[in-house]
Amino acid sequence: MQVTEIYRSLQGESTYAGLACVFVRLTGCNLRCSWCDSEFSFSGGKPMTLEEVLGEVARLSPGGLVEITGGEPMLQEREVVPLMEELLKAGYRVLLETNGERPLAQVPKAVVKIVDVKCPHSGEPNTFALENLAALQPHDELKFVLTDRTDYEFARDFVRNHALAERVHAILFSPAFEKTASGERDISHCQLDPQTLAGWILADNIPARLSLQIHKLIWDPAAKGV
Ligand code: SF4
Repeated sequence: MQVTEIYRSLQGESTYAGLACVFVRLTGCNLRCSWCDSEFSFSGGKPMTLEEVLGEVARLSPGGLVEITGGEPMLQEREVVPLMEELLKAGYRVLLETNGERPLAQVPKAVVKIVDVKCPHSGEPNTFALENLAALQPHDELKFVLTDRTDYEFARDFVRNHALAERVHAILFSPAFEKTASGERDISHCQLDPQTLAGWILADNIPARLSLQIHKLIWDPAAKGV
């Protein structure tokens, strides 16, 4: 499989935020989100065998949490499904971060899927494959990255119309971060003020979790491999 980087850091998002985690970032993405902070993963990388990836993960951590991310990891479904199966067999808790456009039916059920639903101002609206709702497990999480009120209302209505709170463990509403942000570890880099978003969630009584990308508040927002 084509791999951009493998590293160990703290998980920055989802309900696993704050926990030590090994990240396996695969190369390539089929979308071009306006706020993407992983453009460096669109090309390049290096080919690695399944055994080489497993060996590097084990070198970094003998157990615990592993996240498969990208880019879009399910573009390499033929390679990444066996990788997830082997990681599960080895006793890791496996997270899969995916953009929701690729079919997810073949993902092993024990994997925790963190699935994006792209909002109108992502630049990639209407890319979520609705049939993926049927592949969701109760431990999975759905993530909406929001830039403004239009994105919020789309997410709010999507959550209600598809009864998402009954399908998954967590619904994450995450303010988009300025992709050019660097230097100051500052919440003002959020395109949507978290305080404003908090008010909307409370006013509408939405069963969503306000989710901040804590790695961008711990390290320089432009830092890679953290
Ligand atoms: S799906 Fe993820 S990696 Fe791909 S462009 Fe969007 S944010 Fe970037």
